[in-house]
Amino acid sequence: MAKQQFEAESRRLLDMMINSIYSKREVFLRELISNASDAIDKMYYRALTDDSITFNQSDYYIKIDVNKDERELTVQDTGIGMTKEELESNLGVIAKSGSLAFKKENEIKDGYDIIGQFGVGFYAAFMVADEVTVISRALGSEQAYRWHSEGADGFTIEDAEKDSIGTTITLKVKESSEDDDFDQFLDEQQLQQIVKKYSDFIRYPIKMELTEE
Ligand code: ADP
Ligand code: MG
Repeated sequence: MAKQQFEAESRRLLDMMINSIYSKREVFLRELISNASDAIDKMYYRALTDDSITFNQSDYYIKIDVNKDERELTVQDTGIGMTKEELESNLGVIAKSGSLAFKKENEIKDGYDIIGQFGVGFYAAFMVADEVTVISRALGSEQAYRWHSEGADGFTIEDAEKDSIGTTITLKVKESSEDDDFDQFLDEQQLQQIVKKYSDFIRYPIKMELTEE
């Protein structure tokens, strides 16, 4: 399968994020949750203008799952989903207004906590993961798609199956080293703390099953 390339700006920003040391890597979770919430909002607004869609509050939620053995962290939502084209364009380009321009203009050095302050969005996932997989099925579509990337060298998109509308994002969490604790992002208690810290304002339920230890 041919790999598609990220746009140059995205590639630079991705490199910068991966190679820099950020004080708060944990903000990646805020970014993923806010995207999930935005996607549910879009469903909600669609339902307001389209009688064929009923918006039952209880059908809309965000769910976080952990698989420690596989080192996988999954953030799932029942939002509006993405078409193949949307996966390609939305996850292939970082918003032009984004942090890179800001950094250039202000000559901020690498390592400064740009992400924490301005929000880079989806790409923040690569601060804690060396592989990201997005499976999404858009409202009105039977077909789902799987977007996959191992970082700066591009991404692939292929057909996939998904029972319901929405998006599932799976991060393959990096191995911890002496200096870097990535295991915290596979620990439900610690994840719960991060969710509390950054996502109190989210209007939809954020579910996480706690495994007993
Ligand atoms: P922003 O949220 O500022 O637009 P992001 O990098 O966080 O930037 O996300 C880029 C785009 O990808 C979003 O605008 C949205 O269109 C799409 N997207 C990301 N996550 C999801 C999701 N869970 N469901 C639907 N669309 C998503
Ligand atoms: Mg976002």
